[in-house]
Amino acid sequence: MKSFDIPEYYRSSIITPLKEFRRKRDKLKRDFTPTLLDFGPIRLLIARHFGFCYGVENAVEIAYKAIAENPGKRIFLLSEMIHNPDVNADLQSRGVRFIMDTKGNQLIPWSELAPEDVVIIPAFGTTLETQHQLSTLGLDIAKYDTTCPFVEKVWNKASQIGQKDYTVIVHGKPSHEETRATFSHSKEAAPTVVVKDMAQAQRLAKYITGELPVAEFYTEFAGQYSLGFDPERDLQRIGVVNQTTMLASDTQSIADFLKQIMVQKYALTPVTTEAHFANTRDTLCYATNDNQDATYALLTYPADFAIVAGGYNSSNTSHIVELCEEKLPTYFIESEQKILSNKLIRHFNGHTKEEIVTENFIPKRAGSELETPVTVLLTCGASCPDAVVEGILLKLISFFPNARPVSEVIEEFAQ
Ligand code: SF4
Repeated sequence: MKSFDIPEYYRSSIITPLKEFRRKRDKLKRDFTPTLLDFGPIRLLIARHFGFCYGVENAVEIAYKAIAENPGKRIFLLSEMIHNPDVNADLQSRGVRFIMDTKGNQLIPWSELAPEDVVIIPAFGTTLETQHQLSTLGLDIAKYDTTCPFVEKVWNKASQIGQKDYTVIVHGKPSHEETRATFSHSKEAAPTVVVKDMAQAQRLAKYITGELPVAEFYTEFAGQYSLGFDPERDLQRIGVVNQTTMLASDTQSIADFLKQIMVQKYALTPVTTEAHFANTRDTLCYATNDNQDATYALLTYPADFAIVAGGYNSSNTSHIVELCEEKLPTYFIESEQKILSNKLIRHFNGHTKEEIVTENFIPKRAGSELETPVTVLLTCGASCPDAVVEGILLKLISFFPNARPVSEVIEEFAQ
C-alpha cells in the first residue's frame, strides 16, 4: 500500500516499527493474533491492526502539504479533518480554521471566504450542497480534497443501486459527516433513507409492510429521507450501503432483516429476491474490517482490562470500544494524559457521552509484590496516531518499577 509523508511526531519509535514488523511477516493479513509485549509485572496485548488508515494518512499528508504550499494564505478546513483531537489541534495551531463543527453547524459564515483562500475537504468527504457553495464562492475544491477513496466507493455503490431503480438505505449515524455526505451524493441517484440502527430498521420495516401509516414516516424519519420520498412507492425495491466505519455485524443484521421483510412481503425465492432487494455486500472499508477483526482476535485472550485510544467522536473507535466492553472493563481515552495515576483513569462513557473517572482501574496487584502479572489489551481507532498509543504504553509501564526495559522487550520481539 502507498506510504504517506506525515509529520514524524505522529509516528512512534516503538509502535510504528512493531506494526511494520508484523506487516512484513504477514503481508496477506492472515494472522490476526495480537502482539504480546511481556514486561514482567505487566503484559500488553496489542491488536494486530489499529491506527492511521490509508484515508487518514492521505488526509494528513494533503493537509500539511496545503499548509506548506500556501504561506501567508488563509487556510480553512470544512470541519474536523479526522476525528482525532491531537491532529485537529495541531492543524489549528498552524493557523488552520474550521468552517463547520462536526454536526454541520456553521462556525465561519460563507461570506467570510474569498476565492484566494485555501479550503481542505476532510477525509469524510462533503455534501454536494457544500461543494456547490464553495464553487459558487470561486474556491478551488479539488486541489486539497482529502475525501477517502473508500468513502467515494460507497457513493459509487449507492449510485449503481440507484441506477437499477433501487432505493438506497444507508446504515449510518445521521449526523456524522460521512453519512451526511453519503446521503447527499446518494439522493442524486436514488430515493434515500438513513437508518441509524436495528431499531430504526425495524420501524422502517413496518412502513414497508404497511403496518404503520405513511404519514408517520415523515415525522419518525425527519431529516433522514430524501426530498419527495414516498414510502409507498420508494420502499418496494431497496438496497443497503453503510457508513464505512459501522460495526460489520450490525450492518449485516440490518441487511439480513430487511431482506427477510422483502422476501415475506413479495413471497420471493432465492431466484427472485433481486427483484426487490439489491444484492450488495457491506461497504465498510478495509481498515474498519481489519480493526474489528483484530479486536475480535484480541478479545479471545484473557486480560484484566482494555484500553482503547481515539477521539471520542470517532465512529470506528466507538465500535471497537463496544466490542471490548462486552468482554471486560474497557477504558476509552484520548491520550495518556487521561491516565491520571496508577489508581485513576478519566475515560469516556459512550452511553452517557461524558467523561468519568474510575478508581483502581489497575487491579490491586499493580505495583505490589504479587506474582501474577497484569494483562492489558491495547488498541485504538483508525484516526489515532501511533505516538498516542506509545504514550499510553509508556505510562502504564511506568507504574511498575520492576518492569523490564522497553528496548529489551522490543528487541526480543523483533528477533
Ligand atoms: S476509516 Fe476507512 S473510510 Fe475512513 S478514512 Fe480510513 S480508510 Fe477511509
